[in-house]
Parts: sequence; C-alpha cells; structure tokens
Amino acid sequence: MQYRCNGCHTSYSFDKGRYKCDCGGLLQIEYPKKPLDFASLATCPERSLWRYAKALPPISWDIIQKITMGEGGTPLIRLEKHLWGKADYFMPTLSFKDRGAVVLVAAMSKLGVKHCIIDSSGNAGTAIAAYSARANISCEVFVPIETNAQKIAQIEAYQATIHRIEGGREATAQAALDRVELTHAFYASHVYNPLFWEGTKTYLYEIFEQCEGNLPQVLVVPVGNGTLLMGLTIALEELKSWGFITKFPLVVAVQAANCDPLAKAFSRGLPEGPPINNKPTVADGIAITHPLRETQILEALRFLRGTFITVTEEQILFAQRALALRGVFVEKTSAVNYAGYLNMLEQRKELKDVDTVIPLCGSGLKSF
Ligand SMILES: [Zn+2]
Repeated sequence: MQYRCNGCHTSYSFDKGRYKCDCGGLLQIEYPKKPLDFASLATCPERSLWRYAKALPPISWDIIQKITMGEGGTPLIRLEKHLWGKADYFMPTLSFKDRGAVVLVAAMSKLGVKHCIIDSSGNAGTAIAAYSARANISCEVFVPIETNAQKIAQIEAYQATIHRIEGGREATAQAALDRVELTHAFYASHVYNPLFWEGTKTYLYEIFEQCEGNLPQVLVVPVGNGTLLMGLTIALEELKSWGFITKFPLVVAVQAANCDPLAKAFSRGLPEGPPINNKPTVADGIAITHPLRETQILEALRFLRGTFITVTEEQILFAQRALALRGVFVEKTSAVNYAGYLNMLEQRKELKDVDTVIPLCGSGLKSF
C-alpha cells in the first residue's frame, strides 16, 4: 500500500507521519485490489462491509475483528414507488461516516498509531473517536463551536478530547492542522486521507448486491467535502472495470443553495468553486465554502456525466418532515437528499418513473 501525490505523482510508503505530498499536493492511495466475485458473495456469512475485504486495503483479520462493530449491511427502505433510501443511519455511531472511519482506524492500528487528530462538522469526528476507542488510540476532535450538544456528548462518551473552534468549518480544519504540525500526531482527516473513501465506496457495493447485480438508474448524493461522492466514484469505476456494469447511473450531487460553491462551479464549467458569500444553512454537515478536494470532486462528477442540484432551507426542512411521516427520522443534512430528489423531479419529470436511491446518512437524533 502506498500514497501517490495527485499533483506531481510522487509515491510515498504508507506511514503514520504523512498526510500530504512534499509539494503540498493531496494524496491518493494505491494497493493491489482483486475484483469482487458477487456471485460467491451471495453465500458469504459476513454481513458487515468487511465481506468486501478482497477489494479493501490489506488489513489483517486480527485487526478487523478487534475493531469492527458490524458496520455496513444497511437496509434499503422503500420511500416511494421508484425511490429507496439507503439507511446508513443504522450504523454503530448513527452515520455513514462509520464506513470510512473503520477502514482508516484499522489502517492506523496496522501502523501502530497511538494518537490521532481529526476535524469534523461532527459525524466524522464521532466515528473516528468511536473506532479509535476500540483500537486503544487516543483521539483529539476539532469541531466548530456551534456543533450541537448531542454530537459533542457522543464524542465525549468515547473519551476523545474535544476542541471547540470559533470561526467556522475552515478555521476548525486549520486549528487541527496546526496541532498536527506541532505534535506530529496521525492526521485522521476524512478529507486529507484517501483511505476514508475506500470505506465509503462499500455503500455502492451494497446497493449493487441489494439490487441483485444491478444499479438504480439514479443515485443522489450530498456534497460538502465529497466523502461519499469520491467513494461512490471509486466503486463505479471498479464495477465498470471488472465488467459488472457497462455505463454509469445518473449521479445527482446536492448542495444547499445557501452554500453551493461546487454547484456554481459545475454549472459555469469552472475547475474549482468561485468565491461565494455563503449564508448559514441547517445542512451544517455539507456547509463547506472551499472544499479542499474541490477540483477532484468536480472532475469526478464530470467524468461520471453527473449533475448538480441545489435546495433551499425551506425545502430541506420540508423533506425532513416528509421523511419522518414515512417513519424515517434523519438529520437535516440527510434530508437534503430527499429535497434534492424532489427538485430533480420538478426539473426533469421523465425521471419520475426511474428507480432512484438516496442516502439516509445520519440519524435525526444527532441534531435537533
Ligand atoms: Zn506532489
């Protein structure tokens, strides 16, 4: 397993001190992967995302068994005739971030990491704190000061050290980076560390299995730092290169209209987000003004021939209530996906009769 720089393509061995290239570029991860055999997976007794271990970073079963909490294997809930929600709020820490966190912490354990630092709007920090606790890795979590009490309480329950930072999400990331530079602790960032996407990609493997070797025609995905979209892109490329699909489904990326730098960049054909005067949004999990991986995210969506859609605050709140009336209580950041789906149907009525999956990323109990 090795890192490779996105910019200058320099390779580095996978070690605990590195989170970016010497040129400042962001890193990719490379390791030998074997194609999955979905036919034999049908009888695999392992229900967690580790059923796909063959296509995941090489980590010993001893480490996996010590750390796993059975994450993955989440249900598809039917919401409308042609709409299903992938219920990732069923995860051990109640959000989809467990997919990336378990893979990253397992890799940290393999490296012998004893201490890590992460910055997060809440859910990634919670997930890293939980899995770090299982791996006996001490953890510092940097969150924006306005992060709600439920998420703080959950992170503290895992005995992580909390740093509440003023100045928003970007200032929080900078504070974490400063601490990493000072202490040389492992930076368990879900934005910097590409191992996180190796976990989030299992979201798509599961949908492919649940749809009996097919994919829905439309996949809706929320985009802030692009954690799920990047995992989804990796998995779609893999399924195509392994011969399981011949074309990509329509990927519809959603941002809150109050903070939509990537949607603006996409519609204007720009390589990165323009400066925006973002307003506050209830979708705090995707309120990222300058996503670090913006160029990569935009390239990925253009490569997939996907599209962006934005949703208003009123539409997000309506979607959250509408999902609850179907028995599904999710965070406002997750309700964005249903709001995006409804907006998509307004704009493209022909998609009304097309099978679509939206992610139900985080439990409503995490923010109210
Ligand atoms: Zn470089």
